[in-house]
Amino acid sequence: MTSADEQGALRAPTGTHDVLWPASWRFQTMVANFASLVERAGYGLLQSPTFEYAWVFRRGAGEGTDVVAKEMYEFADRDGRHLALRPEGTASVVRAYLQHHPALPWKAWYATPLFRHERPQAGRYRQHHQVGAEVLGAADADLDVEVIWLADRFLSGLGLERYTLKIGSMGDGNCRPAYVDELRRFLVERRDSLCDEHRSRVETSPLRVLDCKQPACRATTAGAPRLLDRLCEECAAHFARVLDGLGALSIAPEVDDRLVRGFDYYTRTTFEFASAAIDAAQNALGGGGRYDDLVATLGGDPTPGVGFGIGIERVLLACDAEGVFPAAPGALDAFVVDVTGGEAARDLVAELRGGGLGADRAYDGRSMKAQMKLADRSGAAVALIVGREELAAGTVTLRPLRAPGEQRPVGRHDVVSAVRSVVAGPS
Ligand code: AMP
Repeated sequence: MTSADEQGALRAPTGTHDVLWPASWRFQTMVANFASLVERAGYGLLQSPTFEYAWVFRRGAGEGTDVVAKEMYEFADRDGRHLALRPEGTASVVRAYLQHHPALPWKAWYATPLFRHERPQAGRYRQHHQVGAEVLGAADADLDVEVIWLADRFLSGLGLERYTLKIGSMGDGNCRPAYVDELRRFLVERRDSLCDEHRSRVETSPLRVLDCKQPACRATTAGAPRLLDRLCEECAAHFARVLDGLGALSIAPEVDDRLVRGFDYYTRTTFEFASAAIDAAQNALGGGGRYDDLVATLGGDPTPGVGFGIGIERVLLACDAEGVFPAAPGALDAFVVDVTGGEAARDLVAELRGGGLGADRAYDGRSMKAQMKLADRSGAAVALIVGREELAAGTVTLRPLRAPGEQRPVGRHDVVSAVRSVVAGPS
């Protein structure tokens, strides 16, 4: 069924966006920066399909989580298979591991669109993008430190300064169940003072109440037992080692005993980066943690894992708010203006591009004035002008566009080297 909105509206669906240049340059460069950072730490790109069998996310991220229960885009394909557009990155990485069994430890990174049917608002979309890194097959606390360092380095490398890191521990199968029982008893006794949503959900998901932003829940949970006080010896030692490792790298997180992230798979370390420069409601930049039970939950042999995802659009908003990571000037070195029929332009751009320079030209035999306008708008360093006089003299007029300077004739065969020396700047 199509609504009046959809028919002939010629617009991207609600909550999605086209990203045109130069904004797309920032997007692409951000992914390239991330790739070079994590690849220097031994991570390899995993490309996996944008949709999976829906059960991967149901079982992986958790049936009762908002992302799965309320926001996942699910559909039956033409063969009746039950599929879902990827709503989060980690479950797919684990599914790919279980399918291919790469050698452990396996370090993988990804850049992917994610789909969640959320209420669109600034910084919250129905399609967003994340870069992420995951390590499977090692329980070492030093890896928790490594992935946190990578995320921190990525953000600081963009020039961001006004962000915070919160860290907590979810315990594990040894210590968490007893804590959850204790918390549930505590909250059920105070059910009447919880917010409407959590009054009815307190039995099934008491941990979520800790994360509730409503004043009623905040006040009620202020005196609740803390998981960090109930960690078993192994989890406490792991957490201490993570904090120690971060300290050694001069990363000072805020320990947060309420850090309940949106997925069920976390064990032990969880962390979240938030920007102080953007609107408080949508200020999370990214986060992650350890998920030592997830591989087994999806049907494999117990295999520990740790990783994170960072929201690209959100990071770009933080960059705007802090005035860092601006769009770069264009990649063009030369723009060819040819008013002699276009053959000179055709051959010159081929020569310039063949020589490794960025070159573009005007088409359709436009006027000198129109072509000069395009040259100015292109962001190129120089215009190369070919008129009848130049053609007769075997020259090209080189006019600097970005930096001040006089225009001058250049021999037709010296054009590539002349442009190269303008681009390189004064020696
Ligand atoms: P999550 O996968 O929910 O842990 O989110 C990781 C990061 O992705 C968040 O910190 C945000 O930066 C970003 N993110 C999550 N959901 C959205 C969304 N609907 N729109 C834009 N960015 C999002």
